[in-house]
This record gives sequence, C-alpha cells and structure tokens, in this order.
Amino acid sequence: MGEEVWEQCRDQGIAATGYYHHGEPVVGDCSKISEEEFDAIWRDKAVNATTSQSSVKHVAYHMKTDDIIYAKEGTLIAGKGTIKSECKYHPGIVKQEGVRWEHYVEVDWDENFKPFTLDLAANQHTVLKLNSERVEKIREMETKSDMLYDYVDGVLKANEGEQYITETIFRKRNRQLIKQKKQDSDYRCEVCGMNYEEVYGEIGKNYIIAHHIEPIGSRNVSSPTTIDDIALLCSNCHNMIHKINPPMSIEELSYQINK
Ligand SMILES: [Zn+2]
Repeated sequence: MGEEVWEQCRDQGIAATGYYHHGEPVVGDCSKISEEEFDAIWRDKAVNATTSQSSVKHVAYHMKTDDIIYAKEGTLIAGKGTIKSECKYHPGIVKQEGVRWEHYVEVDWDENFKPFTLDLAANQHTVLKLNSERVEKIREMETKSDMLYDYVDGVLKANEGEQYITETIFRKRNRQLIKQKKQDSDYRCEVCGMNYEEVYGEIGKNYIIAHHIEPIGSRNVSSPTTIDDIALLCSNCHNMIHKINPPMSIEELSYQINK
C-alpha cells in the first residue's frame, strides 16, 4: 500500500483491500456469500484480476481474529498488528486516487512497532499469506530494527547497511516533531504573521508549512531533527526563503520585510 493508504488504515485501525469493476465493487458483502459463491460471481463478471481476487479472498475468508498482520509500503514494512474482527464491508472505507477499497478487518496496530526495509518480492496492493521463510526474514529484521532504534536516543552511529533504517526512523521522528510543532503553535507564519484561517476561513484552518531550517537534502547523517529545527511559514515566505541557495534564515527574511 502507499503511504497515504497505510495512514488511512492505521488511523482507522483497519486493514483493507478491494476491487471495483466498471465502477462497482465486484462482489458485495462477503459475509453473506460463501467462498464458492464468491468465485462464481468473480467468474461471471469475467474479471481478469486474479491478484486482486486472491487478495480479497484472503481478507474475506482466510484472515482470522488474533492472526498477525504486517503492512508494507513498497519495500518498507511499515506496521504490525493483530486482527480483531471478521471481514466487514463498507465501500470506500479507504479512498485515494486510483484506490477504492471496500473489504476490511479491524486491526490493533502496534504503536511500538519499528518500521524497517525488507524486499518480500511482492506487488503493491497485494495481500499475502506469509510462508515460514518470509516470516523468519521478518522476525530477524524486527529484532535488528529494535536494537537499532535504541541507538537513536543515544548516539546514532549508522554504518552503510543500517543507513536505510535510520532514514526511516528520521522520517518518522520528523513527522512526529512537525505534528507537535504545529499543535503547539497558533498556525501563524513566523515571518509575516499571516494565518490561513483568518484569510481563507474554514478551509485554511490549521494550515501552515513546516520549513526545515537545516534542509534535509544537505544532511550527511540523518541526525534527528529537534523541534527548534522546524519553522512554520506561509507559502509566500517559504518561497522567498528558498529563492536563494542555501536558503535564507528566518531572521534574514524578517529583516527584509521590516526594512
Ligand atoms: Zn509569511
């Protein structure tokens, strides 16, 4: 699943999949039909999408309460959870450009899970039952990832092989810091004082751009950002700051405005 799709699932406490054919879900509520009927409907509609068919069947018939489930975004194993319900049906429970899903199970996603990269050689948007070889690989990386994350709060020393994991930690930590910074703020541009809600009304509520004072691209080591490394700006001031390279400081732009 893509990042946004994963976030929709995590935030709703679900794992979902689905398939639409001519704008309609191929099968409706699977709890009302048997697996044989499911196959018959799929065959009648002559849907040539065997991967999706198998994904939906996994969610609809093969996942059981208390099974362990992992979520992936590309090669990133982004989440781990425990299934908490039988399959449910709600068209559009997960929606994104090109994605519309209707079958889901409730999942208790583990908040302490530490994401890592592992190529399972599986397509996007595929639900798989993990064979023992894949489970073993995942478990091994989980242990490693747990150990590496412990470094982050101490001294971060990433060798080449571990770099990709620290990048992941960095991005995650970064998202949390941005969220925190915004929540603690009055959503006002730190340079010009503009507030989107005051100008645009409801649609502008809680909108502001997070600017990295030390640009991420210039980092050699993915050192964790602190909340002071983030400035909140309106898009005009953000554009002006990036008009030169390296970007202007907040103080410099404020000085330019007040001159
Ligand atoms: Zn501004």
